[in-house]
Amino acid sequence: MRNSLGGPRVLLRRLREVMLERVSAQERLDKIVVIIAANMVAEVCSVYVLRADGHLELYATEGLNRSQIHLVQMRIGEGLVGTVAKEAQPLALSDAQRHPSFLFFPELGEEMFHGFVGVPILRAGNTLGVLVVQNKAQRAYSEEEIEALETISLVIAEMIASGELQAIARAGVILASRRAHHLKGMGLSDAVGLGHVVLHEPRIVIKALVAENVGEELARLEEAITSLRKHVDDMLEQAELARAGDHRDVLEAFRMFANDRSWARKMQEAVRSGLTAEGAVEKVRSDTRARMMRISDPYLRERLHDLDDLANRLLRQLSGEPATAARIDLPKDAIIIARNMGPAELLDYDREKLRGVVLEEGSHTSHVTIVARALGIAAVGQAKDVIGLVEPGDAIIVDGSSGEVHIRPPADIESAYVAKVRLRARRQKTYRDLRDKPAISLDGTLITLQINAGLLVDLPHVRETGARGIGLFRTELQFMVASTFPRISEQLELYKSVLDAAGDDPVTFRSLDIGGDKILPYMKVEPEENPALGWRAIRLTLDRPGLMRSQIRALLMAARGRELRLMFPMITDVREFDQAKAVVERELRFLEKHSHPRPGSLKLGAMIEVPAILWQLPALVERVDFLSVGSNDLLQFLFAVDRGNSRLAERFDSLSAPILKVLKHIHSEAQKGGVPVTVCGELAGKPIEAIVLLALGYRSISMAPTSIGPVKAAIRALNLGELRKLVDPLVEGDEVQGDIRAAIKAFAATHGIPV
Ligand code: PEP
Ligand code: MG
Repeated sequence: MRNSLGGPRVLLRRLREVMLERVSAQERLDKIVVIIAANMVAEVCSVYVLRADGHLELYATEGLNRSQIHLVQMRIGEGLVGTVAKEAQPLALSDAQRHPSFLFFPELGEEMFHGFVGVPILRAGNTLGVLVVQNKAQRAYSEEEIEALETISLVIAEMIASGELQAIARAGVILASRRAHHLKGMGLSDAVGLGHVVLHEPRIVIKALVAENVGEELARLEEAITSLRKHVDDMLEQAELARAGDHRDVLEAFRMFANDRSWARKMQEAVRSGLTAEGAVEKVRSDTRARMMRISDPYLRERLHDLDDLANRLLRQLSGEPATAARIDLPKDAIIIARNMGPAELLDYDREKLRGVVLEEGSHTSHVTIVARALGIAAVGQAKDVIGLVEPGDAIIVDGSSGEVHIRPPADIESAYVAKVRLRARRQKTYRDLRDKPAISLDGTLITLQINAGLLVDLPHVRETGARGIGLFRTELQFMVASTFPRISEQLELYKSVLDAAGDDPVTFRSLDIGGDKILPYMKVEPEENPALGWRAIRLTLDRPGLMRSQIRALLMAARGRELRLMFPMITDVREFDQAKAVVERELRFLEKHSHPRPGSLKLGAMIEVPAILWQLPALVERVDFLSVGSNDLLQFLFAVDRGNSRLAERFDSLSAPILKVLKHIHSEAQKGGVPVTVCGELAGKPIEAIVLLALGYRSISMAPTSIGPVKAAIRALNLGELRKLVDPLVEGDEVQGDIRAAIKAFAATHGIPV
């Protein structure tokens, strides 16, 4: 190897020629090992490919016994080749046979070789195989020689990742690069998606690894690095982003790496060794990734992500390819994989083709989650290292209810999920068939079912579900998915579309309900120890009259001539309602003064979410046009259980005497005052809870669009009079009740009610 013929550049050029030849994958690999051995003046060059079962298999060799190709194999960690794969690091030995890990394979005819150098074949930090060169002589290998082999291994990594070598594997053998993976993340949006991987930030396919002209490639690299640095600086300067805490940290880390001289120098060296600018970025990224993968420190691993992102941006800079996959040709069943993404970015994809989204980060309350739910697609977050495990186009299953992700699933898993999806689809079909049928009980009570919504993408659901309008329009969602406060004109536009979509059916808007877990990244709010009990909802908007007035103005203007129903969240004291009403009246006067059209009629309501209001109901009922029970918050405060705490989620039952008594009391007080009352919390969307609400007297409930079908099916099978006979005594008595849920379930079972 010391007398290598022309160095790595010549070698890479020869390899490029071979890559372009129209030969079989085996022939190509056979030619590659011959070229490497000749060029490196080595007697042996071999390629071992890692299989899914953890064995390295000989795929090609020059110099060893060729009859052993596809036969000789060793476990990862076994022998020198296995050690290179395990450590994901090069190993160079002047006398291999003296190394403690040396393992003798007599069938290979290795006995006369002493000099050994093995480099891992890496892609995105994952080991795919090992490239080995051997010499008869005992000799030392230089850094440059090892580097050259590492560069060459990129070419082979590309062949493996492309699936070319899987195609020549023996029957039943699966290569590590094609192995099935099962990840357990956090279920964010409850749907199941079967489809194919689309990387949100596509990996750039490097078309040319080998430089034609080193000078030109160095200049391209330099230019790309300069513009990347500028881009990162610009991002940091954007005032809005700069305020967003976490985001800023990431950007600062970006800046640090982007300006890191050794990062740039390593890439320049790789270009000098004969790679294109793109090839150099890929090589340095793969090396760094492999090195950092061995580090368990979570902070440093996080920085590995940053470096990866940065390398991607650099490649994009060099190739001029688009930033995200949203505008490329999507498969018809796309599952989007990303480290994280903004809500607007998800909305950018073609809804028809979206089946799911998998994020390495993400949480229940992240805004992209809200959008995924609104779109009705499966979403899983906290899926560790998923980006490194997938290749675009891979088959993948996302189970948003369990948080499971199956990458390249085996046939049995896939068929189990196909059955699950079919079952869901069959159910959906039954529900669709109910769309135009009334929600009427067997004994003739008609119930109004409405949907909860908050985004433009929710609007088609009104028609699709056959709901009678929108019982809760969460106006804060528009604010949450935006990157700055939506302008009044943008709010107006949305509200108009909502009213248009509902047609003659009513829409109940809720004034901004931010604070608590609903955070606007662009709004500066002091951290609170108990945000659920903090400065949120009506408390916040009454303190920020500018914000409240502009929203109310937009709502009043959007309604022009139509009915406007508006309710206020978290009313704790009747005076809060009075103050909110005063703001509405002031805005009405403003419209009048400026001759703007007013709503045809106006109905103002209050949400029942805070226990204190339960003892002011007569006074509240006197003031409002309607009431709506926000059972999510109301139960959170009644049980003193954080609604987001999964550990406590099952601890107390909503179908228990205290809750039923409260719900009954609210209904009776509203009825006494002749004020309509509805329930719009999650309670209303679960069939078993929903029928109990009806037994308590409620005749109007609002829920997530996906719940309309199941709830309507239950109502249509229900004899309400019979159920009341069971529920009334449970609510009226003073003694501690037994298991109410079990009693209702048994009733449903004997009466054939699907709950
Ligand atoms: C509720 O609290 O029940 C409710 C409907 O409001 P949100 O879930 O938006 O807090
Ligand atoms: Mg609430």
